[in-house]
Amino acid sequence: METKSKNINTEAHNLIYKKGLIIAGPCSVESEQQLLHTASELASLKKIDILRAGIWKPRTNPGGFEGVGTKGLSWLLKAKQLTGLKTAVEVATAKHVEDALSFDVDVLWIGARTTVNPFSIQQLADALKGTKTTVLIKNPVNPDSKLWVGAIERLQKVGITDIGLIHRGFTSYGNTEYRNVPMWQIPIEMKRLFPNLPLISDPSHICGNRTGLYAVAQKSVDLDYDGLMIESHFDPDSALTDKNQQITPNELGNLLDKIIWKKTSSSEGEFTNKLESLREQINYLDEELISLISNRMKVAKEIGNIKKQSKVTILQAARYNEIIERALQKAKQVELSEEFMKTYMEAIHIESIRIQNAI
Ligand code: PEP
Ligand code: MN
Repeated sequence: METKSKNINTEAHNLIYKKGLIIAGPCSVESEQQLLHTASELASLKKIDILRAGIWKPRTNPGGFEGVGTKGLSWLLKAKQLTGLKTAVEVATAKHVEDALSFDVDVLWIGARTTVNPFSIQQLADALKGTKTTVLIKNPVNPDSKLWVGAIERLQKVGITDIGLIHRGFTSYGNTEYRNVPMWQIPIEMKRLFPNLPLISDPSHICGNRTGLYAVAQKSVDLDYDGLMIESHFDPDSALTDKNQQITPNELGNLLDKIIWKKTSSSEGEFTNKLESLREQINYLDEELISLISNRMKVAKEIGNIKKQSKVTILQAARYNEIIERALQKAKQVELSEEFMKTYMEAIHIESIRIQNAI
């Protein structure tokens, strides 16, 4: 198709491979005025590489603002011409791809609600085939890294090479401090599997609020992410979507000023950074482990309560043996030594008994 073949985005290619890449813009395009106002304030920060803006909005429930649709693409093109910023929109169907490319959008991103669906991903891949489009893939809403990997593979299979990953957190049940829990171990694993693909953090959709943005952004940078995508609106309180998490371009400028990107100039510096980043990963994994162990103890406590009510003894040897057996089998699969697993399970068991005794 003609509109596609001319879309050879060498500049966009260079852009997503830049350490310290910043993508910013409103959650949604709401009007020409809102987009141009926000874009010009963002451009004057002189820190933004790509202007993001949702034209078609996937809403969890019907009846909400679903985006301005294709007409917004001409405003985005105007914003690009006026500010010199590259542009990015979310695509979910073949028609979106076709429309976006015909309006010279530089980067397409696939949303979290689309990455979960291999049918949709395949449809996008077919529409992108033969183009040189730069595509960013958000993590799927559910913590299933295989779907994320599958989306990368489907795009690579049709010849798309400029691919970046966006970590926007995962849906979880119950209240957490996050709108979408980060589960850092998943993007870290993706980085290990795809060391050449840029990894971009989306603190806006992880936090769902304005106050947590800086901490999540800095955490991501400390974990050696390559870039940030942050939602910004000239008047966040009036935003039609995601108003609680959007910040003004001015606030974004202040946030970005505070972020410390580590230098990777000398080889010694590179070594130190790598080491620090791996240590950060260990810290986060340890935190996850502790919180998992704590959840396990809460369940043990509930069991303790039930045992108390029905006057059953705390220690039940058959069950303990079963637990150990399962753990040893699992340990074998993941190449942990039997000795380690025994010691670990014993420590867990002692703590469980302590908790149940206390009831
Ligand atoms: C968005 O970027 O505005 C968006 C809809 O994001 P996600 O797909 O991460 O929910
Ligand atoms: Mn949003």
